[in-house]
Amino acid sequence: MMKRIVILGSTGSIGRNTLKVIRAFPKRFSILGLSTNSNIQILYQQIKEFHPEFVGVKDINAGLKLKANMPFRKIKLFLGEEGLIQMLKDKRIDQIVLAISGSGALLPLLKAIESKIDIALANKEAMVMAGSLIMNKAKVNNVKIIPIDSEQSGIWQCLNGEEKDKLKNIYLTASGGPFRLMRRFQLKDVSIQDVLRHPRWKMGKKNSVDSATLMNKGLEILETMFLFDVPLEKIKVIIHPEAVIHSMVEFVDGVIFAQLSIPDMRIPIQHALSYPQRLVNNLKRLDFFKLKTFNFERPDLKRFPCLALAYRAAQQLGTMPAVLNAANEVSVEEFLKKRLKFICIPEVVKRVLEKHANKDSPDLEDILEADNWARMEAYRVIRRLSY
Ligand code: MG
Repeated sequence: MMKRIVILGSTGSIGRNTLKVIRAFPKRFSILGLSTNSNIQILYQQIKEFHPEFVGVKDINAGLKLKANMPFRKIKLFLGEEGLIQMLKDKRIDQIVLAISGSGALLPLLKAIESKIDIALANKEAMVMAGSLIMNKAKVNNVKIIPIDSEQSGIWQCLNGEEKDKLKNIYLTASGGPFRLMRRFQLKDVSIQDVLRHPRWKMGKKNSVDSATLMNKGLEILETMFLFDVPLEKIKVIIHPEAVIHSMVEFVDGVIFAQLSIPDMRIPIQHALSYPQRLVNNLKRLDFFKLKTFNFERPDLKRFPCLALAYRAAQQLGTMPAVLNAANEVSVEEFLKKRLKFICIPEVVKRVLEKHANKDSPDLEDILEADNWARMEAYRVIRRLSY
């Protein structure tokens, strides 16, 4: 049976990897729709190869440019965030791959759930901001959310078919990022290039910066809590530099399941698309004799304070995770624009968290308001930080 897929964020790192998977299984998956924020060059190439019936461009100016040069008259073009949401109303969509990075994924995700479409979720920020809302809505609408994030995919696969109430711990693994072995003072002057040089994974820029600060793991703690309905005490972060174990689950009888594979995002993407089936692929295989050893370390919260801040937000919940996420997003953007030092990212997040009046059991409006407030506050803090 052919599965009809829409990729939101098809021109980013996960989107392009998803298309590689789809290219490898032309009889299983077809592309119904694609979308990009503004990267119309890559979108154009993707249209030529995959012949979607519709495409969305969030940036309206970029979308109009694409329209002017569109040789494919039959393809419907949707513009702006409204357009993206409109796109999701097509009744023929079997699954949406949500590969938009950052908080911009939240509204499309909620709309997709309302349209009762199953979701392969690569974005973690939406889950961090509004995890309870999303999971409740998914339950009410009987929508399956299958994670693509490699750790979450690992946990999902390990928990499959097990008794959830017999779960003792989740070991969330982290490669440790490019600065795992650096001393604190050495982190003072790291450049964007240093940050983007991840030893194990090739990722988009936002995710790469988050991996370097370990905020990525912090966001994943929250993602895990909501996605699997697990309390914070049961989630343990372990640094595992080889990035071959993508997470582990421990049950009450002392048995631990781990999910292993080479670090290649096409593997969790393929699983999210093909579930509950497994498909033969020709990706590289794990070679234990080359690997020889696995290493494990405790995360250092002093050198990587972002992880400690995420723990704090995960203890408090309410609107705190949304605030953590927003302050981090602004800090990462400003770092990538060379307006904030790498080492100041946690400082900004910390100050914003400390100033926030938390609200319990927030609704969507509360969350969006907290997100907005945290962004303004983060800009204010950054302006005040002199360096
Ligand atoms: Mg991950």
